[in-house]
Amino acid sequence: MRNHPTPWSRLRGLEPMSLCDWPGRVCAVLFLGGCDLRCPTCHNFHLAWNSEDDPCLSRDHALGFLDQRAPWLDGLVVTGGEPALSADLPEWLAELRGRLDLPVKLDTNGMHPDVVERILDIQAADLVAVDVKGPWSKYPTLTGNKITAREAKATLGRIFKLAERHPERFLFRTTLVPLLTPEDLLETRSLPPSGFPLQTQPFRQPPRPFQGHHRKEKSC
Ligand code: SF4
Repeated sequence: MRNHPTPWSRLRGLEPMSLCDWPGRVCAVLFLGGCDLRCPTCHNFHLAWNSEDDPCLSRDHALGFLDQRAPWLDGLVVTGGEPALSADLPEWLAELRGRLDLPVKLDTNGMHPDVVERILDIQAADLVAVDVKGPWSKYPTLTGNKITAREAKATLGRIFKLAERHPERFLFRTTLVPLLTPEDLLETRSLPPSGFPLQTQPFRQPPRPFQGHHRKEKSC
């Protein structure tokens, strides 16, 4: 998969304060545009697939805001789209984490284990929340045919190995999209390594495209 530009050039949204993106913490949320999957149930499809249509938030603006707000925050969440499309995401996160002196949570679709491994190596994030979209056999359908069942198993398998080495830094979650049957959910729960309960989140119907605005949507 090709590398996308640096995270600063993908920054399309900043939520000043969220109480639900990292339960128990008051966080700011940064939204990076672009995603390598095409999940038909994507709630952030504009950010994921057409973010070039929106202006980029400037580095100076974002840092100016975060510098001011950091003393009143408990964390910073970086989400997308898929943040780990940028190969230099680890260094970018590390810079933010050090500068703001805040714990960092990363949301990822789990398709970039090399980037996640580097993030762990340089301690650039405190928590990595990984999507497990469903059983391997349904990955093609669930991701718009962007990944095969075999690729999903191999790629997330590498993420699971990282989680076994750093259990305190991972959580796994599944969105209860209509494509998943109760049997699928049972199978999905068995995929992460033992000791990692699968968190589930309710599915919300994506907003219809082209409604005249493209607010960045959050998972809660
Ligand atoms: S991985 Fe997430 S952001 Fe990307 S298309 Fe799927 S639901 Fe949307």
